[in-house]
Amino acid sequence: MFNALVMEKDEESGLASPVIKQISEDDLPHGEVRVAVEFSTVNYKDGLCMSPKGGGLVRNYPHVPGIDYAGTVEESSDDRYKPGDKVVLTGWRVGEAHWGGYAQKASALADWPVPLPEGLSTRQAMAVGTAGFTAMLAVMALEDHGLTPDRGPVLVTGAAGGVGSVATAILANLGYEVAAVTGRSETEGYLKALGATSIVPRDELNETTKRPLESETWAGCVDAVGGAMLARVLGQMKYGASVAAVGLAGGAGLPATVIPFLLRGVNLLGIDSVMQPFDNRLRAWQRVASDLPMDKLEAMIQPATLNDLPKLGADILNGQVKGRVVVDLN
Ligand code: NDP
Repeated sequence: MFNALVMEKDEESGLASPVIKQISEDDLPHGEVRVAVEFSTVNYKDGLCMSPKGGGLVRNYPHVPGIDYAGTVEESSDDRYKPGDKVVLTGWRVGEAHWGGYAQKASALADWPVPLPEGLSTRQAMAVGTAGFTAMLAVMALEDHGLTPDRGPVLVTGAAGGVGSVATAILANLGYEVAAVTGRSETEGYLKALGATSIVPRDELNETTKRPLESETWAGCVDAVGGAMLARVLGQMKYGASVAAVGLAGGAGLPATVIPFLLRGVNLLGIDSVMQPFDNRLRAWQRVASDLPMDKLEAMIQPATLNDLPKLGADILNGQVKGRVVVDLN
């Protein structure tokens, strides 16, 4: 028997709520690799999966959320993994359609995990988690489209959140000038310590403008916010620059014109972390290990246990989590 956070649905109200209880290995869904989970984390999606309606992501109950986990392989029917291997797992709709990492054991298909890159512990991997992994994918996409530090400042939106914090630290470490957009002025010191060179108050970019083009300011952008802010940022990009669209913390709509694409050759790059092919996952995790300074990662960590998760789920949906939560399962 082992501990898990299980979302259980009340048939009368149709609403789910979290229960921390003991479950057994026989309760785990079918998998090829069984992992002793050491750490998990809290992403925006985890907040959705722990909400009473499952955020439209969870269809079947009882359900164990946790879209990310890292731990040690206990048993594997697939010869890519053997007991004792350290693995990290993100994406593949784990924690949404499949049981996830908010339990001391998890079962996965062998295509899903990635061997933990050298130099990264399971705890550090979860401090990175889907949010940080996606930030790395966004930086890689910007580089693939020509971004270099000499091109000028890079904007990071939702900077004090998970994606934004890791993007800020990676970009600063790679020598970029980083402008961090935040709605929480109290995070200025935190963001500057991660390497942000300037702070842009959220309100400045939330104001709508009728002008489809503004002065060419940003050489690149990692955008965790979407909505009206992304529309505004598109009009501020330098000629030929790219925006990596990662998130929708500010809205899923895009009230923009095509003018920045047509007159400035601006690129809007979509970033998906869930279905990334294995080779690119491996490349991104290796880049995380080499390009994210571990002291900066440490400064982002808020430690937690299974008992803290329901509150943290609500907090992240309200934009109230700073940096990255690391959930210790033991
Ligand atoms: P967090 O909640 O940690 O960060 C989001 C940040 O956005 C907040 O901290 C806040 O930053 C800012 N924000 C929140 N609400 C608003 C608002 N209404 N207007 C403007 N800014 C706002 O979440 P994550 O970093 O984990 O995820 C960020 C986004 O990226 C989410 O939408 C998530 O779903 C998405 N995502 C997408 C992935 C993909 O594969 N494409 C993978 C991972 C995440 P501040 O206080 O600094 O302003």
